[in-house]
Formats: sequence, C-alpha cells, structure tokens
Amino acid sequence: MSLHPSTCPLDCPDSCGVLLETDEHGRFTGLRGNPDHSWSEGHLCGKTAIYHEVALGANRLKVPLVRQGGALREASWDEALDRIAEGVGSLDGEELLALSYAGSMGLMARHGPMRVMNALGARCTDGSICDSTSAEGHQVVLGDAVGPDLERVVEADLLVIWGCDARRTMQHLMPRVKQILHKGGQVVVIDVYRTDTLRMVEGWGGRGLVVSPGSDASLALGLCERAFQNGSADISFLKEQCMGAAELRAEIAGAYTLERVAGDTGLAPSEIEWLSSCLAGSSEAWIKTGIGWNRRRNGAMSMRAVCSLAAVLGIADHLHFESGDHFGLDNDWLSQPERLGDRGREPIRHIEVGRELEAGHFRGAVVWGHNPAVVLPESGRVQAGLARDDLFLVVHELVLTETARLADVVLPATALPEYTDVFKSYGHRVLQISRKVCDAPAEQRSNLRTFASIAQRLGMDEDLCRLDEEELLTGFMNHHRSRFTDGEFERLQRGEPVKLQPRSGLTRGTPSGRIELASDQCDEQGQGRVAAYVPDDGCSMAGRFWLHPTPSVATHNSTYSHSGRHVRRAGSPRVWVHPEDARELGLTAGQDVRLHNEVGSLTLSLALNDDAPRGMVRVEGFPDPAQTSEGLSTNALTRSTASDLAAGFCQFSARVDLSPA
Ligand code: SF4
Repeated sequence: MSLHPSTCPLDCPDSCGVLLETDEHGRFTGLRGNPDHSWSEGHLCGKTAIYHEVALGANRLKVPLVRQGGALREASWDEALDRIAEGVGSLDGEELLALSYAGSMGLMARHGPMRVMNALGARCTDGSICDSTSAEGHQVVLGDAVGPDLERVVEADLLVIWGCDARRTMQHLMPRVKQILHKGGQVVVIDVYRTDTLRMVEGWGGRGLVVSPGSDASLALGLCERAFQNGSADISFLKEQCMGAAELRAEIAGAYTLERVAGDTGLAPSEIEWLSSCLAGSSEAWIKTGIGWNRRRNGAMSMRAVCSLAAVLGIADHLHFESGDHFGLDNDWLSQPERLGDRGREPIRHIEVGRELEAGHFRGAVVWGHNPAVVLPESGRVQAGLARDDLFLVVHELVLTETARLADVVLPATALPEYTDVFKSYGHRVLQISRKVCDAPAEQRSNLRTFASIAQRLGMDEDLCRLDEEELLTGFMNHHRSRFTDGEFERLQRGEPVKLQPRSGLTRGTPSGRIELASDQCDEQGQGRVAAYVPDDGCSMAGRFWLHPTPSVATHNSTYSHSGRHVRRAGSPRVWVHPEDARELGLTAGQDVRLHNEVGSLTLSLALNDDAPRGMVRVEGFPDPAQTSEGLSTNALTRSTASDLAAGFCQFSARVDLSPA
C-alpha cells in the first residue's frame, strides 16, 4: 500500500489533511488522516473517513447520460458533447447560466471551468448562499477577514464560541477548547439552541448561553455599553486604531440596558452581567464566530455588532470568522473574467435562481460542483425551473443528484484521488497541493478536462481546449510566487500541507485602513452608520415556529446524501420539536407532520427533545428528498428574501406551522 498526501475536498473549514491509500496496482482503496497536518493532526470526521464508499460506490456515474424520450440513458462522450454543442453552442451568452458551488473546494475545480463559461459570455451567480452576509458585516467594520491563527487559540484565557456548532462544523477546534478549560481558562458558548458544542463544553466545565434567534446584536451592543461603563473598553486602542468610537458610544449609551438586552435575548440579567465581567477580567479573550447569524435577515448587523464589541474590548485581532483571506490567492486568475470582454455581465443573485428560472429567463444552464435543486431557497421553484422543457441543462457530477436527474446531459466527474488541485481553508492557514494518484475507474473526467472537452466541441480558443491541471497549477503557483517563501514553495510542490506565514504589508482593507465603527457605506445602504439591533423579521412569514436547519453529523450539505452508509446513519428524515409545543398541538413522536408556510410544505417524522427552546423546530442536514412525500428537502420552506447586506441567503429566518400529515 502507498500513501499520498491530500486535502479533504469538502466545504468545511477544517480542510483536513488526508493520506490517500492505493494498493499495489495503484488503485485507490481508502483514506486516513495525515498526522503532519498542523490543524487536523491526523484525524478525520466520521463522514469523510468513509469517503472511499462514495468514490468506489456502485452508484457513481461511470459514463455520460443523455435524455431520450423523457429518460436518461447511457451515451458516449462524443454523443454527449454533440448534444451539448446543439443545446448550448447556438445560445447567446446572456441566455446561458453558469451554476457552480463548493462540491469540491479545489480552487482549480471550482474556478477553472469559468474560463470556458466566461468565454461563452454566460451569466454566473454571486456567492450569496453561504457566508457573504457575515463576510460583508465583518468587512465594513474590521476589514478583510484574515483573523488570527486559530492554532493559537489555546493561548486564550477566555474563548467565546458564538453562533458556531464547532462539534459538528469544525471538529478540530474542540480539542483546543478542552485544553483552554484544562489549563483553567473559561469557554462560553452562545447559540440559539443547546448544540452539541454547547452541551460538550458544559460537560467540560464551561458555560452555555442560549439566546433568542437573531438577538446577537443586542447582546453584543449591551456588552459594549457595559464595557464602556465598567472601564474594560480599550480606549487607547479605540483612539489609535479605530474611527467612529465616539459615535458608537453615543448611539448605544442608555439604549442597551440590562433589562432591554435580557428582554431581547431571553437571557437573565445575571447571565449578561456574568459574561460582561468575564470579558472585563480576561487578559487574552478570543471570539470564534461561525455561520450562526450569518443566514439571517439581520446577519450583517449581528456581525457588525460582534466586530464592534471585539474592537471596543481591544481584541479585534482575536476575532475569527470563517474566511480564506489569509491566503491572498486570486481566483480571477483561474476564472479569467476578462474573457467576457465588453459583454460585462452582472451576476444574478444566487438566492434568486428559482425565480429567474420561473420567469422563463435562460435557455441553457451548466452546473458543476453544485446541487441547486436541493441547496437553494425555494427549491420547489428551482426544481421546476431546471425541469423546464425550453431549458437545456448540463450537469457534471459524481452521482445522480436531484439536479442531475433533471438534466438533458449528465457528465461523470472524478473523485478526489483522480484529479490534481490546490486547497486552502476558511478555518486555518494551511495550503496544500493534492496531486492525482490514480486514473478514474471508468470514463469520468475532471472538471477541467470536461470543460476543455466542451471547448473543443464548440470550437473555442485553443488555450481553452487544452485546459490541463498540471499546466494550470504551475501557472497559478507561479502567479502567486511572491506569496510563498522559498521553503513554503518547495514544500508545496512536494504535496506537503504548508502553513503559510502571514502576508507582509497587509492593511485592514477598510476604506480608511482603520477599524470603522461608523460606516458611510452602510449609511448609504440604509443600514445605519453604527451597528444596532434590528429584530429578524422572519422573511415576513407568519408561521408559529422558527425553522432551524442545523448541521448533520452524518451528511455534509448534500455531498453525502447519495451514499448508502451516510444516509443510513442520518436516519429517516425528521423534525425535532419541543415536547411542550408538540403536546399543545396534539402531536406525538413518530407521527408524520407537515411543515408548511407561504413558500411550500414538507412532510417529516416528528421527534421530540428540548435542545431547542419552545417556538423553534430543527431539521438536521438536508433530509433525503427521496424519502419525503413532496420529493423535496428543507429548502422547500425557505425564501429568497435577501439578508441586510450582500444579498445573502436567509436560511435560518424561515417560519413554519406544523400540522398532522
Ligand atoms: S468534512 Fe471537515 S472535518 Fe470531515 S474530514 Fe473533511 S475537512 Fe475534516
């Protein structure tokens, strides 16, 4: 057996170092953690530890499929490419939609195909389904989200994990959390229900605080006000490195009293006092934020408030939000937007794909690394739109996803051991080149080779027809050569996981170069110059319950939703309801219930627990649409209403009612 260093390709901030195993014939057989990876230290989560069951699974697509007489049948690459040339080749770029996301986090697999799509003049989407709301909130206050080196979090004497179920979404933070507690530090978890992380930290001696959904800004600003009152605000830091501190202080003075914050958040005044005194007494406080409030209507405002708190306490450089800004890599070098020329196209809003398609826009769509039929809001609309007779749909995929089932042409994709790519992280600072270690088992082609094949068939420029992983990798690394020390560059070429040094000469990335506690940009967008608490309006839905889609321990977005063991581990699709709410509605455990609202409905089996407060129902992961009577998943119930900044997805702002099915 041989071992080959690589990186987990999933959309996860841990971006674990893996070792791919091949047998004496060079065939991929499995994978394990790479002990030389400084963040993941040789450990993988249970989901990816069985990634080989996806790569070697019987349901992996082996050859292209084309639609005939309403059904998909096997075809040669030649026939599939001919179909694509017929369906897409004659379209004006304005009629063609490029839909990609994070199926593989490999930078070349994600962004390289855009060279071809840009040359065709296709419309793409903005990046708004995951983190854009918080990223923008962070940007307007603290600037680029370079953040601290999270490997150093063990130096904290106080860690506030805010809106981040790290146990499920960033598991390698947890051993570090334990270390902080073992050496006598304090860890506080703030979330909207009793997450795995919150319960685990309580079990280790830390403390959990459950706040009302969307009330984070009130808590953060209340803590700011108390910091000014109790003398723990870092006045010299505010003077030297921030602008707008006086304005913020004046705005919040008297506005965020203990009673008001307690009313907004549902916390006891004593809990707020306690947290405030912990922050005041800490000499090394860190804040780790996650996706918590990011997918809410008021997500940017919450992020602005928490960033403002970090600035007031003088710990702005100890606030970590998920971002790859540390690496300073240029995705445009890969995607070449300049190929659009004077056909400049505004991206469409990612959250509005369903509405765009429903309105009859576009006559062709090309999808890679994405399952829009499940992961986008108003998924009923998205599915109906993708199934339009007058839309020619091409999907490049590993397995027959819900989106692929609607396609006119399905192209089989390579799995991790079968392509070369470069992986960064949005959690830590390790970069790694992952080289192809074996051929695809059948006719699967990598993203780049697939788009080169399409370019050839469409008679496009020679360089697009020759898109090649090794060549692109060499160009990409050379383009960024000044980002790496000689030692880093050599180690990267050898495939080692390399923790990159901070970039030199880095500025904050705000217009003023300082932390901006008052923002002209936000003011112009009607969002107020300083952070304020604006309650989440639930996307104007009237349902009695907040619908909270939470991370699954068994599946990952929709990536593992077509793998037998992952799906079995996830169990049958269910909704978790507080026992008192169920009793009031006359509902019992195990019965099928219908979740419904202004957008759609979804039938799930009812399960009881009191991890979430009354008034909230939880659904883990994306329930398998094949197991619901509607053939849909959670996003059948979410709306395309945009967040307060950056037009982000408000997945956590949906409200629903419950009825017996
Ligand atoms: S999904 Fe996340 S935790 Fe699991 S192996 Fe991949 S990067 Fe690591």
